[in-house]
Amino acid sequence: MITTAPRGTQDVLPQESYKWHFIEGKLMDLARRYGFSEVRTPTFEHTGLFDRGVGDTTDIVQKEMYTFTDKGGRSITLRPEGTAGVARCVLEHGLLNNPLPLKLSYLINCFRYEKPQAGRFREFRQFGAEVFGSQDPAVDAEVIALVADIFTTLGISDIALELNSIGCPHCRPAYHEKLRAYFAQHIDSLCPTCRERLEKNPLRILDCKNDSCKEVAKGAPLGIDNLCDECADHFASLKERLTAMGIPFTVNPQIVRGLDYYTKTVFEFVSTSIGAQGTVCGGGRYDGLLETLGGPSTPAIGFAVGLQRLLAVMEQDGASLGAPPACDIFLASIGQSASVEAQKLALRLRRAGLHAESDVQGRSLKAQMKYADKLGARYTVVLGDDEVKTGQIKLKRMDDGQVEETTLEALPALLCEK
Ligand code: ATP
Ligand code: MG
Repeated sequence: MITTAPRGTQDVLPQESYKWHFIEGKLMDLARRYGFSEVRTPTFEHTGLFDRGVGDTTDIVQKEMYTFTDKGGRSITLRPEGTAGVARCVLEHGLLNNPLPLKLSYLINCFRYEKPQAGRFREFRQFGAEVFGSQDPAVDAEVIALVADIFTTLGISDIALELNSIGCPHCRPAYHEKLRAYFAQHIDSLCPTCRERLEKNPLRILDCKNDSCKEVAKGAPLGIDNLCDECADHFASLKERLTAMGIPFTVNPQIVRGLDYYTKTVFEFVSTSIGAQGTVCGGGRYDGLLETLGGPSTPAIGFAVGLQRLLAVMEQDGASLGAPPACDIFLASIGQSASVEAQKLALRLRRAGLHAESDVQGRSLKAQMKYADKLGARYTVVLGDDEVKTGQIKLKRMDDGQVEETTLEALPALLCEK
């Protein structure tokens, strides 16, 4: 018998699932207020989409993808992130023909073959949002404001916005040359993957998790000192807008982000309360992605929040996660005809929107009441032959034992008011 889930995966147990509903409900509501519509794309895509869309020099593509050949001989990959699939969907369905900017959000499970540890799983959940069709820094500011609002709305204060700009195809080649020259001097300290990256994409070395590479990266020339005028203006305007909206940030020139397609703005929201994996949200502008995928040149920006990490921060900070759903009423019964009546009544109450339970185990009255207590039922009614005959019932409030006389007929309306 197989009794354990694969390493790096998690079960959300029934007594925990309300927390996920709470968080995801808040996220979707905030996204709606910011004008985002939900998009749902497949859990798996053609592997080539991620090779191109995420970038074949990234950790994700080089080390972390769940890739397999399906029975038709196609190479398929479980999505490691959401942006590439959404971008593919936008192009495939011509969504750029809608009024721009196009704002899309999603809630997805992602799959990465990583070393499982606190805050790092092989299957994890993300909330993400993407805006297509505007290169104005106002959009960068709006997207970042949405993320900041997410944390404020969820009652998280221990989180800091870190911001950087990594330039564009105009300023990056010269910067890459500087990086190449720098890392070439330290090639003996680089991991084998980064030695290969040196030629192809030296920026990636700045994002390597290897300790020795990290040490070398500390002394590397900074992207922010090497921006062209357009990128520098864009960054200045973004900072001005964030300041105007009262959204605090710090510039962290070390952030490059794990995906190859980023341009200009990159950002992370980092918490110090959940240990080493403190990055709860990562995002950035990716003006080159759609063209890379064969579409028209289209500026875009997006982010993704890791929901396991978000939940961990909320639990750590003691933020409200809603309450487990309570049972409104337990309908106890004595005898067969009362049991039938109780089940009928439960049906009426449920149709009225209440959580009602009746006995479906043939328990004794005493056992039924004990069960009602365990369920945490707010009210109980006991139905016997008399109650069925007269329709008169006694509604008992469980927390203080108060009893109210009413009728079977009036019960749904009465309870809905409570
Ligand atoms: P990290 O630097 O922690 O590996 P990343 O740069 O790979 O993160 P992104 O691709 O930007 O992460 O994903 C966005 C968010 O998704 C992260 O900020 C994090 O909250 C979450 N996330 C990423 N990988 C994992 C994982 N393996 N397990 C749980 N959450 C994850
Ligand atoms: Mg990663």
